[in-house]
Amino acid sequence: MASTQRLIGLIGGMSWSSSAEYYRLINQWIAERLGGLHSGRVVLYSVDFAEVAQAQHKGQWNEVAELLTEAGRSLKRAGADFLVLCTNTMHKVADEIVAGSGLPLLHIADVTGAAIRQSGLSTVGLLGTRFTMEEAFYRGRLEERFGVEVLIPAEKDREVVHRIIYEELCRDRIEAVSRRAYVEIIGRLVERGAEGIVLGCTEIPLLIRPADVSVPLFDTTRLHAEAAVNMALAE
Ligand code: GLU
Repeated sequence: MASTQRLIGLIGGMSWSSSAEYYRLINQWIAERLGGLHSGRVVLYSVDFAEVAQAQHKGQWNEVAELLTEAGRSLKRAGADFLVLCTNTMHKVADEIVAGSGLPLLHIADVTGAAIRQSGLSTVGLLGTRFTMEEAFYRGRLEERFGVEVLIPAEKDREVVHRIIYEELCRDRIEAVSRRAYVEIIGRLVERGAEGIVLGCTEIPLLIRPADVSVPLFDTTRLHAEAAVNMALAE
């Protein structure tokens, strides 16, 4: 029986709390678009995040690239048509995963950059892991490909944002005190000229909702999942 939907290959588990959101959103939107009992065609390879986080913090990016490339190859063997890497941070090794798996990858920074451009905003604040905020692979892509100016929090604030991601959000813990800390950090970015905020870590939307702040949010989990649905259903 031929399906009209492409098979989405999710590389997830980074962390599982955001991968669950991807799965929910993809299915919800496919059901809305196609109606009836329709749901997404998805294969998920979910990694053990402890291994990934440990290697990240030791700077062992080659090892993580290998692990995720193997996940990509498994998804190819399972018949996936394209890859969706359910984390902003691990796009640091996106090129290696594409080269090693032989599958195209829907890049989260491209999807986010397109949404920022469409909004007409020119300066955004970026929240994410230390790697995403401080290194060029993500910010540089937004700046170079989409002409967006990207502001990041001051060092002390970056530490807070990073710590809350790994100590709470990736353990499926949502704390009101951390929400207040993030809202304050967002306020400081807005004072410095950010017209919108990129929630550049796929767990942050579990903590910060549009109603918590006064500027537009770019929720990378939703944007990425929506782009995956569009790609799965494209003619
Ligand atoms: N999910 C997070 C992100 O979008 C952080 C977890 C990770 O390090 O992959 O960056």
